[in-house]
Amino acid sequence: MRCEGTVYRPPSEAGSLIIQATLACPHNKCAFCGMYTGRRFHVRPVNEVIEDLDSARRVYGPDGVETIFLADGNTAVLPTEKLVAIGEAARARFPNLQRITMYGSAKFLVKKSLEQWRQVAAAGITRIHSGLESGDAVTLRAINKGVTPEEAVAAYRHVMRAGIELSVYLMVGVAGVERSREHALGSASVLSQAPPTFIRLRTFIPHPGTAWHDHWRAGGLTLLSAYEALHETRLLVEHLEGPSMLLSDHMSNFLDLRGRLPEDKPAMLEEIDAALQWPLKAFRPPTERLVGLRL
Ligand code: SF4
Repeated sequence: MRCEGTVYRPPSEAGSLIIQATLACPHNKCAFCGMYTGRRFHVRPVNEVIEDLDSARRVYGPDGVETIFLADGNTAVLPTEKLVAIGEAARARFPNLQRITMYGSAKFLVKKSLEQWRQVAAAGITRIHSGLESGDAVTLRAINKGVTPEEAVAAYRHVMRAGIELSVYLMVGVAGVERSREHALGSASVLSQAPPTFIRLRTFIPHPGTAWHDHWRAGGLTLLSAYEALHETRLLVEHLEGPSMLLSDHMSNFLDLRGRLPEDKPAMLEEIDAALQWPLKAFRPPTERLVGLRL
């Protein structure tokens, strides 16, 4: 298996075989993201991807791979026939394969028709990880996500209609104290109109060299304290309707909150209220002290 550059994958894909089907990100403009800064997006030839699958089969054996993540940052942009060829090749080599997943931003998910997404799902690519970060229109524009709340709702409904599971990422604190309320309410609105299979929280930590880091350093954004992050999360949970599974499976978060919506909402709100009574030292260090750690 070959790999180029730093390879990123969602925490939930820690046990997956990672194969780069694309390199870098075709958007590469999100103001907080430094993952692919200075790298050019390109598509790897399908025969190279299949050679990597062959190498993995030699190393792990046909029964040794149950999940595959197709890196890099937005593999969902690949043409349908390429995704289908990769999915079918993977399933032919690993009979125990349970799922193949990839990243896909909302702005790219509408580029394929419903029928094309159904073909992708039939080839075994059945889950997309999508960073939305916020459902607040002002924040989405400011962080240059390339999508409006309305477009995100349409994109998420579109892929889920094809039978594809969605794992959507929200970034606690990305709007700062300044738009915390709008960020929580806007995000709850988008994800209640198009409830994804999973909602995954991570907390914004400024990454040096990015525009959003510089915005914070220039005083344009106030980072959330542990208590402010919990209040934002509480407002979000209060307004999420589901059905979705909410997870906080990232070390950047102040609280490991998880549960099914809507049924676990009262328990999750109680958990947040209890955490709001904790002393500050019970939480991870303040976000300011994590800057530069590349979390
Ligand atoms: S779409 Fe994802 S990988 Fe690309 S710039 Fe935005 S956050 Fe980074």
